Parts: sequence; structure tokens; C-alpha cells
Amino acid sequence: MKFIIATNNAKKLTELKRILIPLGIDAISAKEAGITLDDVEETGTTFKENSYLKAYSACKKTGLPAIADDSGICVDALDGRPGIYSARFAGEDASDEEKNNLLLKQLEDVGGDNRKAHYTAAITCVFPNGDKLQAEGKCFGEIARTPDGDGGFGYDPIFLYNGVSFGKVSAEEKDKVSHRGNALRMMKEELEKYLEENNVNE
Ligand code: IMP
Repeated sequence: MKFIIATNNAKKLTELKRILIPLGIDAISAKEAGITLDDVEETGTTFKENSYLKAYSACKKTGLPAIADDSGICVDALDGRPGIYSARFAGEDASDEEKNNLLLKQLEDVGGDNRKAHYTAAITCVFPNGDKLQAEGKCFGEIARTPDGDGGFGYDPIFLYNGVSFGKVSAEEKDKVSHRGNALRMMKEELEKYLEENNVNE
């Protein structure tokens, strides 16, 4: 069974495919499906709600089951912000570098023990019959003092996992422990159960 990955974010798409394909999930991009995804307004108040909105829109457009990710970084000292607003934290068109610099600035006076943060990724799969499956993964670490490395994307150069920047680790190392890796491995189990219970042949 083919699944469409509901994202226009090229870097997120790379990560989603990189994790989903080895899990045996036949995931294709909108480009591979020959369609353009509509922009979806993220009006939800949780990662799960927003990932549902994106998956629902792609499923409706393509008629294929759709998998979407909504994710972000939650900083303890900022009461969980930027959270679901991580992509737009420094304005709609801000670069990753600008977002990282703004977050570092807001944490300028925050000491070592209080720089704890976690990533969250919610994954939703919506089927053409309206059924939905959801999974959420987290990855706990802290915010660095300065960016380090250029691997990954988004906030990775300032996110320390076990003291090492996600901007410095390999894709494989990130996927093993990341919020997205954790959520997608849970989604795989949910999908297997669902397909078996519904007698869907792959
Ligand atoms: P959205 O899910 O499209 O709302 O965007 C999520 C935003 O959170 C991204 O644009 C990144 O800024 C950030 N983000 C989510 N996951 C990661 C990650 O794995 N590494 C770095 N930044 C991430």
C-alpha cells in the first residue's frame, strides 16, 4: 500500500523518507505522486491536531492514505515555547539561522541547569475512509550557548543531545534517538495492527 507524505518541507521529507522506507512503509512524496500539496493553515492547538490537518488535506487531495508530521522544540525556561509555533517563531520567512539566533538571545541570561528542552513530533496517518492513526515521540536535551555543526535542519545546531549538538551527529545517529524516529517507529506498530485488523493486503 502506498502512502503519501504530506509535507512541502524538503528537509523534513528527506528525514521522513529516510526513516519510513527502511521500516517497510511505501512512502512517496507529493512530487513522486505528481501533485502539489495545498498549504494547510495550522489552526490546531496541539502537535497532534496540526499533523491531522495536514494528513487529512493530503489524503483528500490524492485519495491515498497520507502521513504527516507536525513537530517543534519546547524550551522549559520559556514555558514550552516555541512549541507548535517553532516554524514561525521568528516570523513567516525567517531562516533557520535567524530562528536559532532569536532563541539563543531569549536564553541569554538562562544558566546551564535551566536550558532543558525537548523536541516533539506528532505523526498522523489518515485513510481515505476517514480512519486515523496517531503517534507522538519526544527527544530530550538542552539548548547550547552557540550553534555547532551544520547537519540536520532547523534547531539542530543548537540542540544538545547527551551534550552533543544534533548538528554534529550523523543522520543515522539522529534517527535512532530523535522525536521523529521515535514517533515513526510507534506509527509502524500502529499501522501493522491496523492493516492486520482490517485485512488490508500490503
Ligand atoms: P512544522 O511541523 O511544519 O510546523 O515545523 C516544525 C518546525 O520545528 C521546523 O520548521 C523546525 O524549525 C522545527 N523542527 C522540527 N523538527 C526538527 C528537527 O528534527 N530538527 C530541528 N528542527 C526541527
